[in-house]
Amino acid sequence: MKIIADTHTHTVASTHAYSTVLENAQHARDAGLSALAITDHTPASTDGPHVWHFHNLHKALPRELLGVKLIFGAESSIIDYDGTIDFPDEECAALDWIIASIHRNHLKKASPEEITRLYLGVAENPLVDVIGHCATVGYEFDYEKCLKKFKECGKLVEINESSITWKNTTDNYKEIIRLCKKHEVPVVVNSDAHFCTLVGHFDNALKLLDEQDFPERLVVNADMDRLTEFISAKKGNIFMPPSCGK
Ligand SMILES: [Zn+2]
Ligand SMILES: [Zn+2]
Repeated sequence: MKIIADTHTHTVASTHAYSTVLENAQHARDAGLSALAITDHTPASTDGPHVWHFHNLHKALPRELLGVKLIFGAESSIIDYDGTIDFPDEECAALDWIIASIHRNHLKKASPEEITRLYLGVAENPLVDVIGHCATVGYEFDYEKCLKKFKECGKLVEINESSITWKNTTDNYKEIIRLCKKHEVPVVVNSDAHFCTLVGHFDNALKLLDEQDFPERLVVNADMDRLTEFISAKKGNIFMPPSCGK
């Protein structure tokens, strides 16, 4: 399976990441990607940029850099067990791509019942596109119930390379992948790179998908038309020049 877009990457705008947009785009190009999403943490995060970072994405950056299409997004944090995220609706609506993730510093570990309630709440938020790295140990939930709900609500479940590598989440991901296949829940495969050399690298995530013979048609960022169609359904065709009637 070939992934054509990395839709979860950080730049120096998140202070614990170490590369620029240009460096990430260079590595995306070198990895053969067609698109790259810039998804820095939200301003409420300790390491997040000022909100002007997000306001200026559309104005300051081109839609295509070194032959790689740019998707302007954010990675928000889930801050309570109702599934509230830490980025205002109007800010989410102005971007192309919103990831909602649990981060340990924003939310304490809780029972599977509470985390299930949280994810059912996130699923109801129409502004969220991607359920970020949801296999974290200590934050398990009723996978079957929530994954079905994610599908029903048009969310993509992220298979996150960084969290597989760093956080011992393999067993949880195997179960999530098994259930996504069973219930035909669409996924995205992302690096969550905090340094440019990791952009476009998904070996561990792809290995887990291959092991279960996961259908390529359910991987939204394995096909540019499929990805464009997903974004277009909510935001219009962001890659079409304004002169073409966007
Ligand atoms: Zn994250
Ligand atoms: Zn991230």
